[in-house]
Amino acid sequence: MSARVIDGTAVARRVREDVAKGVEQLLAAGGRPPGLATVLIGDDPASEVYVSNKRRLSVAAGMQDLHRHLPGDVDQETAAALIDELAADPAVSGILLQLPTPKHLDSEALIARIPAAKDVDGLTTANAGLLAQGRPGLRPCTPAGVMVLLEEYDVPLSGAEAVVVGRSVLVGKPMAQLLLAKNATVTMAHSRTKDLAEVCRRADVLVVAAGIPGLVGADAVRPGATVIDVGIHRGENGLHGDVEFDSVAEVAGALTPVPGGVGPMTIAMLLANTLTAAKAQQGIGD
Ligand code: NAP
Repeated sequence: MSARVIDGTAVARRVREDVAKGVEQLLAAGGRPPGLATVLIGDDPASEVYVSNKRRLSVAAGMQDLHRHLPGDVDQETAAALIDELAADPAVSGILLQLPTPKHLDSEALIARIPAAKDVDGLTTANAGLLAQGRPGLRPCTPAGVMVLLEEYDVPLSGAEAVVVGRSVLVGKPMAQLLLAKNATVTMAHSRTKDLAEVCRRADVLVVAAGIPGLVGADAVRPGATVIDVGIHRGENGLHGDVEFDSVAEVAGALTPVPGGVGPMTIAMLLANTLTAAKAQQGIGD
């Protein structure tokens, strides 16, 4: 293997430690602890694990756990009323609606009720618009975490060719915007892209968020490129990503593993966003 393995677990730990220090500084300045309201609807086991990790790590960073759980058969009005209650509660700095919600609910309508200032997942149209216009706002956690990894590993972005595979609102679109804001030349690939491998080979920085196990192999990677694998798939032998790790590691210059790459960064950036939101709401700090 020639690629440097990007250690998301270590970077995420450092980000969480910085957030914990930031919480201490907020309290020392007379502020209130940031409060994170995770909202889980139903009892999907994977979502329960994700939410319990978010709650545990927010408490470890000194935040208040303001978690709320609604039954899976809750109606739209009741779920909307909960979001409105959290939106109005000054103890709540950030609201995270765990996705996916049960199919009978309109999750976009629920997200639309979250005030931009408490949208710690960065998914409201207001925060997406601020990002598109290059203005300050809360950024979606997974692409924001990828940017921190690229910065930590000194990956040059200005003038670099970046290819993002996937164009979801959650990952691909904000990822492309964040890379563009750092002056990369960005190409977005998706399911209709012709000759995906050829497009990917342009990349100095390749971010893969397609949700297809092993979609990107060594033939799609320019020698020396930095490859970020956002995909998460649970297989018989544990977790793996959208990138064929073993073959790509022979070609790439740097590569994120799954697990231990982008995944841990997502929660760390959620905590960073919650601290940012709390400080802005309380008028303390930057
Ligand atoms: P998504 O909403 O399903 O979007 C997938 C995107 O990939 C779509 O834009 C789709 O194109 C594109 N795509 C699908 N098949 C493709 C193909 N064969 N070639 C090129 N592009 C293709 O998924 P997502 O929410 O963005 O998530 C993507 C992956 O990241 C999933 O594995 C998810 O579990 C993982 N994820 C991980 C984290 C983390 O914390 N590490 C966070 C979020 C998501 P179209 O638009 O044309 O359909």
